[in-house]
Amino acid sequence: RAKEDGRNCIRFYDGTMQKKVSERLALESDLRAAIRGNQFSVHYQLQVDEDGNSVGAEALLRWQCPGRGMVSPSEFIPLAEESGLIGQLGYWVLEDVLFQIANWQLRGDLLSELPIAVNVSAKQFHLPSFCSTVMEILRKTGASPRNLKIEITESALAYDLTIVEETLRTLRSMGVRVSLDDFGTGYSSLGYLKRLSLDELKIDQGFVRDILDDPNDAAIAETILALASALRLSAVAEGVETERQRERLLQMGCKRFQGYLFSRPLPVSAFEALIEQSAFRRSPR
Ligand code: C2E
Ligand code: MG
Ligand code: MG
Ligand code: MG
Repeated sequence: RAKEDGRNCIRFYDGTMQKKVSERLALESDLRAAIRGNQFSVHYQLQVDEDGNSVGAEALLRWQCPGRGMVSPSEFIPLAEESGLIGQLGYWVLEDVLFQIANWQLRGDLLSELPIAVNVSAKQFHLPSFCSTVMEILRKTGASPRNLKIEITESALAYDLTIVEETLRTLRSMGVRVSLDDFGTGYSSLGYLKRLSLDELKIDQGFVRDILDDPNDAAIAETILALASALRLSAVAEGVETERQRERLLQMGCKRFQGYLFSRPLPVSAFEALIEQSAFRRSPR
């Protein structure tokens, strides 16, 4: 009996594994079809300064899958990395955003001045062709490199540091800015920060969420802000959802904010409307 139960147990476990593997394969094949079939779009989330003025936006990838509905990038980006699709997908995102930037630049209004941050995964960042790809897409679209910011996470730094340094230097010599996303959640050593040419640290939303109630989170956020200021990097707090979180961060010296308090990530047309509205509000008439 016991033996039988054991076997059942193993069979059950195997079944779960099997299911996971086939789900993964199905997701991967849907992802391939999605790249061919134009199922992606980019949403834009506003970033503001201490007075609420628009100072930039983050581009966030969205996958509208016919069979699955909206799939979160936290689900499909890791899969795209594992299955070698990240190069193609990352190319698509950069091209879409840079065409958009070029488009906004033609209008010459507030939208043409906003730096747009694009997330680049560690694998994509370390493709030997990464910098030349960025260069090629900049040239093709005519977008100004000044309006492009690349967001990498600390996982992108966990490679040969001389190569990381070189890639960052090349990007910055092209006029592209670089931001370190989800700062404080990875394993990079602080010594990296002085070796690498970065422009910005993003305070992870995990430290912002309970900033009013958890003294440890507050201490970490405050330390990141002090560190950024000492190293002359700008700092952006992400995941700001309430006015009280904003106030707390402001007291700590934070000058850049991103989160649902200001706006959700929006499709292009809604984002344009938001920016136009805020420009109108600011105009002295
Ligand atoms: P991330 O770069 O740290 O982006 C911030 C995430 O927080 C976004 O989730 C955004 O929608 C969400 N967020 C913004 N404000 C708030 C807020 O006030 N409260 C809460 N709870 N969440 C907020 P999203 O769009 O689901 O993206 C998840 C992650 O997927 C991103 O984290 C980024 O690492 C990755 N990702 C998104 N787009 C791309 C892309 O084009 N390429 C790559 N490689 N990764 C991407
Ligand atoms: Mg990001
Ligand atoms: Mg982040
Ligand atoms: Mg994140």
